[in-house]
Amino acid sequence: MALIELQNITKTYTVGEVSQQALKGISLSVGKGAFVSIVGPSGSGKTTLLNIIGCLDKPSGGKAVIDGQEVNHLGRKDGARFRGENLGFIFQAFNLIPVLSVFENVEYPLQMIKNEPAPQRREKVRETLQAVGMLEHAHKLPDQISGGQKQRVAIARALVTRPKLVLADEPTASLDHETAFNVIRLMRGMRDAYGTTFLFSTHDPRIVGEAETIHTLEDGLLVPNASEEIPS
Ligand code: ADP
Ligand code: MG
Repeated sequence: MALIELQNITKTYTVGEVSQQALKGISLSVGKGAFVSIVGPSGSGKTTLLNIIGCLDKPSGGKAVIDGQEVNHLGRKDGARFRGENLGFIFQAFNLIPVLSVFENVEYPLQMIKNEPAPQRREKVRETLQAVGMLEHAHKLPDQISGGQKQRVAIARALVTRPKLVLADEPTASLDHETAFNVIRLMRGMRDAYGTTFLFSTHDPRIVGEAETIHTLEDGLLVPNASEEIPS
């Protein structure tokens, strides 16, 4: 069974009297453990699609099933619980909490959702920071590390709860080319290590080749012929 199954997802935003159809019928299937990129220019609907898969927003129509559970109808509370138990998020602007250390930033989602004894919790944080190569910076504040290091911490934060799926919306858009490559390769290494499914959006053609499967989004629709499988 696929981890993500989308059937004819549509999304219309209405601002005042103006309606904008951001997604015009997206059907997509993503297998467990896949490393998938959604590629498309600015405004093509990438963020809207990731927000719907991430239960951060509801579609106007269609069906979204994640790990066998239909999520398109989930309300705020159930959506939040589903996210906490199943999903991890990585953002373009890192979104680390500036007054918390690297360690505390990664510990935070575990404190929020899992009622776990502190020693086990801290061990999980250390293990995950080690996996992304940031354990030696655990005591630092986000201001004291580079952009690439911040994104490593954000990857650890997304993975520390051992989610089934990590959604990353343009995770390399704030990074230079080489750092961007390294971040995507790290994500792929984490997929190999933990079996986590990764779905990341980008409009950077230089890093697209790092994905195993590419889906191209244009003006709210997937481009059928451009969706390709890249042998790993
Ligand atoms: P991308 O992430 O590919 O740049 P988005 O999903 O952000 O694309 O946007 C797709 C379309 O939907 C754009 O035309 C954008 O202006 C519109 N849009 C996105 N979010 C909103 C919103 N909250 N309200 C109104 N229109 C929106
Ligand atoms: Mg976007």
